[in-house]
Amino acid sequence: MSSVELKVPDIGGHENVDIIAVEIKVGDTVELEQTLITLETDKATMDVPADAAGVVKEVCVKVGDKISEGGVIAVIEASGSAAVASAPKTEDKPAAPAQVETPKSAVPAPQAASFSGSADAEYDVVVLGGGPGGYSAAFAVADEGLKVAIVEQYSTLGGVCLNVGCIPSKALLHNAAVIDEVKHLAANGIKYTAPEIDIDMLRGYKEKVIGKLTGGLAGMAKARKVDLIKGFGKFVGANHIEVALTESTQYEQATETGSKKTVAFKNCIIAVGSRVVNLPFIPKDPRIVDSTGALELRQIPEKMLIIGGGIIGLEMGTVYSTLGARLDVVEMMDGLMQGADRDLVKVWEKMNAHRFDNIMTKTKTVAVEAKEDGIYVTFEGEKAPAEPQRYDLVLVAAGRVPNGKLCDAEKAGVAVTELGFIEVDKQQRTNVPHIYAIGDVVGQPMLAHKAVHEGHVAAENCAGHKAFFDARVIPGVAYTDPEVAWVGVTEEIAKRDGIKITKSVFPWAASGRAIANGRDEGFTKLIFDAETGHIIGGGIVGTHAGDMIGEICLAIEMGCDAEDIGKTIHPHPTLGESIGMAAEVANGTCTDLPPQKKA
Ligand code: FAD
Repeated sequence: MSSVELKVPDIGGHENVDIIAVEIKVGDTVELEQTLITLETDKATMDVPADAAGVVKEVCVKVGDKISEGGVIAVIEASGSAAVASAPKTEDKPAAPAQVETPKSAVPAPQAASFSGSADAEYDVVVLGGGPGGYSAAFAVADEGLKVAIVEQYSTLGGVCLNVGCIPSKALLHNAAVIDEVKHLAANGIKYTAPEIDIDMLRGYKEKVIGKLTGGLAGMAKARKVDLIKGFGKFVGANHIEVALTESTQYEQATETGSKKTVAFKNCIIAVGSRVVNLPFIPKDPRIVDSTGALELRQIPEKMLIIGGGIIGLEMGTVYSTLGARLDVVEMMDGLMQGADRDLVKVWEKMNAHRFDNIMTKTKTVAVEAKEDGIYVTFEGEKAPAEPQRYDLVLVAAGRVPNGKLCDAEKAGVAVTELGFIEVDKQQRTNVPHIYAIGDVVGQPMLAHKAVHEGHVAAENCAGHKAFFDARVIPGVAYTDPEVAWVGVTEEIAKRDGIKITKSVFPWAASGRAIANGRDEGFTKLIFDAETGHIIGGGIVGTHAGDMIGEICLAIEMGCDAEDIGKTIHPHPTLGESIGMAAEVANGTCTDLPPQKKA
């Protein structure tokens, strides 16, 4: 045991900064990265985390004090092992699937434009963009009793997720899964003839699903008295957005009416999302589509290429393959579904091998030519065929780019990186304190549930509460068949970052429910911090994996260990039971498995 002074780290050159909250007291046990104090500069508030763990002996500051870099906050009695970084750090978010760090570009803050015109309407909060991040933020702000407007260029709320992303893809995947499931029943003596697919009706079903949800959102906006301003918004100053009003009857299609409206705001939340990456060498041709085009389900090709072996490409590939297409996939990295541990992906690969003619990993697409009889694609790399290959349909699913550069955020003084990301602090504030940013535009992972969570944080701050994005983990799910879901520290991350872990696995071959369902190929894996015993990650491959990963997320957030999870009574017989049983494996005895070898 030794005494350690916890000091203020580099806080960007700010001096004599106000302490607005002290989160510790003498006798507390402080964990690594736990917030000690909160500082407020004229630009933002920031939390100062502990860089060592131990028991607080002395607190050297109080609310109202001023402090600078190097100032002593507290003295703790640090225990050797506890002081070593072993748990996942919130900021690092090792948890996030396929996570890339938001580019830290040190973009210089631009000078805000001065706006001297008048406003047509004034709001407490204007939310720019009506996607899952934007509408969630706006509804939460309205629930706080503030006057709020959403500026959205298209006819419906819900953004990419509801209109051309999460929801339509799942509507199609559900139908594909039922078709596949019915095929499995043949082995149990229940035989159906091959399905007759009416593609127009299937498309209609998907549209109905979207309509139900977006209609519901419009109703909820009305009920909350949230103003919807249909148009494309651009900042004209630090407190004003000019909206070029649009007419739009369909998502991703809008024309400007020529009329403009200027709105003034006290606070603004930028939720402008992202768009698909266009590869420069790919020609325009109706047989080459992005995810939106693929969701339109214009045709079922005989031979389809997916450029990009990530979740979006593989989900769409699953749909097209079940409807009759043969698939090729090309991916520059050394494996599909990057971010998930390879043992999970291997199970998916085995179950899905029948869909693919070629899985070209470590391979690049270098040329695409549209000819009358098909799209000819040339590849380069480890698995590249020597000759260009012909396809009836090519899906480009090579990633998404943020929309930060399209809304003149710089005119409000907001710094935007070269790539179009907007950097924020843990309160979702940009470098301009009354302007927040959330969702895809602030960085990876570009997922709807991250956008919604960030939206709620920004909304609470707009309403004067003190809220932070301090989620430890963000789960990722591929809604393929079987589903692949993962969260927190993966084995790959642990290896890369030198985190000492223990893992426990429960194979679904021993799950009564999975066997009864005829789908026992999957497994559930839990990952624990080897020193503290706390759960820090997990992965599931199998049917409904995405519905189950939430329990592991909660366990991580609550700091559970294997005993907490294993001794929680899970209903039987369920697939969710496999999480409890994986924890029992970690505890040394799982009575649904053969006896484990004792070390
Ligand atoms: P968006 O949803 O992109 O919404 C931004 C909105 O802002 C848009 O409606 C846009 O029109 C509007 N806008 C932009 N600029 C302006 C402006 N200047 N003025 C007015 N309006 C503007 N995520 C998941 O979590 N689970 C999934 O299963 C999943 N599946 C997906 C499947 C596909 C095919 C795709 C493409 C994406 C999927 N995603 C999924 C990702 C998810 O859709 C996004 O992460 C999410 O929509 C991001 O929300 P957002 O609010 O940040 O932005």
